[in-house]
Amino acid sequence: MKSIKNQGAACCPHHCEPFDVEYWSLVSANQDPDLKAAALGGELNLVQCPTCGCFFHHDGNLIYFDAPAELLVFVFSQKDREKEPELLKRMQQDYEIIKNTLLKQLHMDYPPVSVFGLDSLKTVLQEEEISSFESEAVAASSAAQGFGVVRLKPSYARKHHFPYYVPAPAGKATALDYAVAASKVLKSGLQSKRLRHFEDQMSQEGATIPPTL
Ligand SMILES: [Zn+2]
Repeated sequence: MKSIKNQGAACCPHHCEPFDVEYWSLVSANQDPDLKAAALGGELNLVQCPTCGCFFHHDGNLIYFDAPAELLVFVFSQKDREKEPELLKRMQQDYEIIKNTLLKQLHMDYPPVSVFGLDSLKTVLQEEEISSFESEAVAASSAAQGFGVVRLKPSYARKHHFPYYVPAPAGKATALDYAVAASKVLKSGLQSKRLRHFEDQMSQEGATIPPTL
């Protein structure tokens, strides 16, 4: 899916004359890593008022999509915060449409996330970054301990606050085998709250094996 630019009027916070701008209304992070970096850096849809020269974010609706990360975020305008219930309803409808048309070949099986304003999107992406760094450390430590590494289904890992990568138990594994493998990697000295949490959950009675890619 391609990123999409729209045109619209921007209203300066200093109440200057509104002016036309081009802004991103759909960001496909996988295809446009520059736009992902801009969203993380707070520069996405940053515009400058031609009258007073101040910079501000164009506050329009935006969809942020990162297919490999299984992350679909609907970013609503800050000023629509009080309309949240109806926006969430519309988001569900839009999601169903997108899922069954534009993104049909992706077989999306994870729900969208919604936030208000680009600052909140930035927070979501920052948490993603932290989680990715931690997951890479888990993968490296697992390999160093002689384990294979499996990638958990990203939307599942995010939902449960698990790392994106975990050590793979040998053979036909049970949830407890995953817990044991995680425990061994943690004993090697790795500090990872997410792997610790994964170990806890996998050792619970009735735990099922995690979905992997
Ligand atoms: Zn202005």
